[in-house]
Amino acid sequence: MRDQGFATTKISISMGGRRPVAEFGFGAALPDGTSTLTITRAALYGVLRDEAVRRGVPIEYGKRLVSATPERDGVTATFADGTSERADLLIGADGLRSAVRTITDPNAPAPRYVPLLNTGGFAKGLRLDAEPGEMHMVFGRGCFDCYLVHPDGDVWWFANPRQPKELAAIGEDQWRAKLLDLFTRTTAPPATSSPRPTRSSRAGAPTTSRRCRPGTAGG
Ligand SMILES: Cc1cc2nc3c(=O)[nH]c(=O)nc-3n(C[C@H](O)[C@H](O)[C@H](O)COP(=O)(O)OP(=O)(O)OC[C@H]3O[C@@H](n4cnc5c(N)ncnc54)[C@H](O)[C@@H]3O)c2cc1C
Repeated sequence: MRDQGFATTKISISMGGRRPVAEFGFGAALPDGTSTLTITRAALYGVLRDEAVRRGVPIEYGKRLVSATPERDGVTATFADGTSERADLLIGADGLRSAVRTITDPNAPAPRYVPLLNTGGFAKGLRLDAEPGEMHMVFGRGCFDCYLVHPDGDVWWFANPRQPKELAAIGEDQWRAKLLDLFTRTTAPPATSSPRPTRSSRAGAPTTSRRCRPGTAGG
């Protein structure tokens, strides 16, 4: 996993991108060299999947659980393709809108919208006054953002703009205009050249996992 991410040693927090109000380290590396890593979600997923496969865990793609029936000594899970599986235990790891949660507790609270969006991406061509591997968090008016410089010079960033009403969809251009407006109102991080955005993706926002080791990840 270490090859896929980069060591992240320090965090600094500022209001409006001015002088940091707090700075602290993520702690020393473990004796085996493991340190806090910043890694893309896709890379983290790939590493975890490969390790699961290496350990002989079978993975079946495209199965949608639709129902589960408890039995005296186990459970039968049924999938949208009409197949079913019987097992001792059913473990739901199916996210925010978990079918397993609803099946096991039909009265479980439904997810609710919090007035915040999340977007992120990667930028080339910026020269920021920041050391590689240092995480910079900026609390601005109407938006929280975070950026880190990758050792290769790219800038990895994400932002959480306030958004009172849930959006059905928002295009890349709208994201860009909205964020530029918010960042202009906040003092943007000092850059000495114009950003050339590469790809940005809500789903592909960088994830920082404290002390990532193969098989574990914490946010
Ligand atoms: C844009 C974004 C940025 C984020 N950034 C961070 C971050 O920086 N740090 C952090 O710690 N957290 C972050 N989070 C939160 C984090 O992604 C979630 O808390 C975490 O992914 C939840 O993990 P999970 O395994 O419970 O569910 P998920 O990751 O949602 O996985 C659920 C899986 O179950 C599958 N599934 C759903 N329904 C069914 C069904 N009926 N049958 C079969 N399979 C099903 C889905 O396809 C999916 O593969 C972010 C979230 C988003 C959206």
